[in-house]
Amino acid sequence: MEELIRQNIISLKPYSSARSEFSGEAKVFLDANENWRDFVSDRNYNRYPDPLQRTLKKKIERVLSLPADHLVLGNGSDELIDLLLRIFCVPGKDKVLLTAPTYGAYQVFADINDVGVSFCPLQDDFGLDMQRMRTMCSMDAKQAPEAGIHKLLFLCSPNNPTGNSFQLEQIEQIATLFRGITVVDEAYHEFSEKASAITIMEKCPRLVVLRTFSKSWGLASARVGMAVAPLLLVKVMNKVKYPYNVSGVAQELVSKALDHAEEVYHTVEVIKRERERVSHMLTTFSSVKHVFPSDANFLLVRVKDPDALCTSLREQGIIIRNRSSMTGCDGCVRITIGSKEENDVLLQAIAHLEE
Ligand SMILES: *Cc1c(COP(=O)(O)O)cnc(C)c1O
Repeated sequence: MEELIRQNIISLKPYSSARSEFSGEAKVFLDANENWRDFVSDRNYNRYPDPLQRTLKKKIERVLSLPADHLVLGNGSDELIDLLLRIFCVPGKDKVLLTAPTYGAYQVFADINDVGVSFCPLQDDFGLDMQRMRTMCSMDAKQAPEAGIHKLLFLCSPNNPTGNSFQLEQIEQIATLFRGITVVDEAYHEFSEKASAITIMEKCPRLVVLRTFSKSWGLASARVGMAVAPLLLVKVMNKVKYPYNVSGVAQELVSKALDHAEEVYHTVEVIKRERERVSHMLTTFSSVKHVFPSDANFLLVRVKDPDALCTSLREQGIIIRNRSSMTGCDGCVRITIGSKEENDVLLQAIAHLEE
């Protein structure tokens, strides 16, 4: 792991904030140049939050059974993706490996960091092309490190926008073969029946798993994502991230959401049932060619005319996502599963267009 990290990051001496140097009980805090008054609440918003979010991580450990010492929290998982790129990839030299299609943010953040991208296309059913994956992952083993290598591999499972999960045995095989860091983005894990890649982390020392509070937890606005990572990497990520990357307000919101875990799990079940209902209903329309199976809270749907469908629905105030320009997704739109009422509005609108 250590030889994969950029040299300047290894030698980096981190910024040490007032709040990270002092931990414990005190009655007078005059160390961080804060205002002594909170003008808007009685919740100490005048104080800097805990840079390592220790109280929240303990609660996450209790409620979600994720090991607190292996957690890094970020300003959305987007921050964690960017952080990994900045830690491992030398700009203008190193590269990352992505499947095609997948979540667009990986490429955007790679581009911003001047990190090259190689694509491994998925099969027609959006499963991993294991032969090609093995070739691409093992290529670097023979390359001179000076040439720049694939430092990160992003596997999004369940994958956005296709909705399918990759087989855990395949992820394990690839993560074992790949000499860089394999990042499994499980943003939609809660909507899936499949086991998490966290279960293979002991066998795969260079594996990082990402989760988020933006989807099943209903907190997209709070911007909180999680990485479950090996201890050495947790240390390095904490050193590189902004000291107060998760605001006190966001930490409070996540803590409150965790108090509602039962409701969250119940709603996830409702969404999964709705996913099956909407999927079935969509197949009855003549404008729909195929509905792909989904382990997430959205459906990828191949239709006869995606542009016309998106435009007509938009005119009625219904927004879906046109994904037809993505690799392997010709003719496809992505539809999020909403409430029963919202889904009915969508289904009725499509039925109406068929008349
Ligand atoms: C929505 C989504 C996320 C979540 O990003 P946040 O920054 O945590 O909101 C991460 N990965 C994928 C694949 C997503 O679709």
